[in-house]
Amino acid sequence: MNLLNDPFISTTQGKVSLKEILTSSQDYQLQYYFDETQLAMLQLLASLTTVVLKPTIVELKQYITQGVSAEQYDDCLAKVDTKWFEDDSFMQSKALSQSKVFSAPVCNLISGIESSGTVNASGLFSEMKQVENVCSDCIHVLNYNLHMNIKGDCFGSSGATGIRGGGAITTLIAARTLKSTILANTVAVDNFHKFASLSSDAEQSLMWEIPPHGDYFAAQEIGLERGLFALAYHISFQMDDKKISCDVCGRLSTKTVTAFQRTKYTGSYGSTKKGRDAGAGFWLHPYTPRNIKEDGTYAVCARDQHWQSWQELTSYVIGKETNKSSVKPAYIVNQYQEMDITDLTSLLIGGNIASQASIVGRVYDLYSMPATLSKNLIRITKVVEAGLEQKEKLSIAFNKLFGIGYDKNFVGGIKEQAMQRFVANAQQIIQQILLDVDRKEAAQLRRDAVVSLNKEAKQIFAAVQLKYQHDLPLFKALIKGEFVLHKQH
Ligand SMILES: [Zn+2]
Repeated sequence: MNLLNDPFISTTQGKVSLKEILTSSQDYQLQYYFDETQLAMLQLLASLTTVVLKPTIVELKQYITQGVSAEQYDDCLAKVDTKWFEDDSFMQSKALSQSKVFSAPVCNLISGIESSGTVNASGLFSEMKQVENVCSDCIHVLNYNLHMNIKGDCFGSSGATGIRGGGAITTLIAARTLKSTILANTVAVDNFHKFASLSSDAEQSLMWEIPPHGDYFAAQEIGLERGLFALAYHISFQMDDKKISCDVCGRLSTKTVTAFQRTKYTGSYGSTKKGRDAGAGFWLHPYTPRNIKEDGTYAVCARDQHWQSWQELTSYVIGKETNKSSVKPAYIVNQYQEMDITDLTSLLIGGNIASQASIVGRVYDLYSMPATLSKNLIRITKVVEAGLEQKEKLSIAFNKLFGIGYDKNFVGGIKEQAMQRFVANAQQIIQQILLDVDRKEAAQLRRDAVVSLNKEAKQIFAAVQLKYQHDLPLFKALIKGEFVLHKQH
C-alpha cells in the first residue's frame, strides 16, 4: 500500500485514495470511531497533499478555488519519490541494533487509553480492549498521531516529546467539503519558508530516509516536509494475516496490527526544555498556535480539564498580547487569511488536555467564521469578550461569599463548581451564536451573546441560591452578590 497512490482513507463510502478525494466531485466524509483519529487524519492528509502538490501560495489559492484535476495530481506526483510513502516505510525509521526497544499494545496509539505504568498515568475515555486490532491502513494515522499529538509523558520514561511539544492544541481550517478542508490546510511552500525562517540549506529529506542526529535538532535546519512528518521514535510493527474488523475504522481487513515497538530518539526538539536550553529553537508547525514568552516559544496547550476552547478563540484567530507573552495564531490560519478567499469556513480546535502523564480531557470544537477570514474578525472578538465579561461578573457575584467568615475552601468550592459550569455551558452558547457570524453585525452578535450568557449566569447563580436558601449567612451574601448580574450591560 502506498499512501500517495492507494485507497487507505476510510470514508462513509468505503476506502478511497487521496487522489480520489482531491480530484473527484464527490464529497466524502471521514469514518473513524475516535474524534482524535479524525483530527489526526485531517492533519495527515493535508500534510501528504503538501508533499504531492508543493504549491506556492498563488497555486494553492487556485487549487482551492478551481479544484485539482487528476492530471495535475499525477504531474505533481511524478516528481515525488513515492517509495518513502510505502506502508513498510512511512514514518518508520530503524533503530540501531543495540538500542533498548519497548513494545506496547496498539491501543496505546489512541491517547486517553491507559498506556503507562507511572503513578500519575491514567486513561480516561476508552477501555483498552476497545482497540485490539488495527487494519494495515489505519496503523499509519495512529503512528502519525503518536509522533505529532500524543504527549511523551503518557509513556513514562520511554516516552519522547515530538516536534510539536507534548499535547499541543491543533487548529485547522474546516471548509465546506473534505476536499476543500484538506486543501485549506495544505501548506504553501514559498510562504512557509519565509514565515518559519528556515535556513536555505535546511535538510529536506524525511526522517526515515535520513534520521536526525546530535543532542538537539535545530529548528531552522528542518525543512518543511521533514518537519511535517518529524519523528520522535524509531518505530516498527508487524502485520499479521488474520481476518478482523478494524477497531479504528470499522472495516473488515485480512491483516491486523496488534502491537508496536518503539525506541525514542536521543536528541531533543526545541519543544522541550532540554532542546530550548541548547538553543534548538521551536519549529513553527503550521497547525500549532504558539505562545511567545521571554525565554522562548511554546506550543499552546490546554492543561486544565475544565478549560473550554471558547475562552481562547480570539487568540487562535487574531492573536493576543499580554505583558508577559503573546499568543499567535497557527500559521495555517494566517495563510488562509492571506489568500483572501471568500467561502464559508469554520475553525476546528482539537487536541488533548493533558496533566502530567494523564489525559484528562479532549477538545474537538468547531466555530463558524466570517466568510472572509481576514475581515469582520471583530465579530468573533465581541462574542468572546461578552462571554469573558459575564464570567467575570459571575465571579464577582460569588465573591461576596468570602466575607461571611465561612471556611475559605468551602465557599471557594461552591464558587469554583459554579464557574466551571458556566464555562462549560458557555461553550455551546458561543458556538451557537457564532453560527450567525456571517449574517449579523458585531454589535448585534455582542448583544445576542450578552443576553444568552447573562441568562445562563443568572440561572447558575439562582441554582446555588436555591441550594443554600436555608443557610442564612450564605443566602444573604448571595443576595448581595446577585445585583452584579442584574447591572446594565
Ligand atoms: Zn482501519
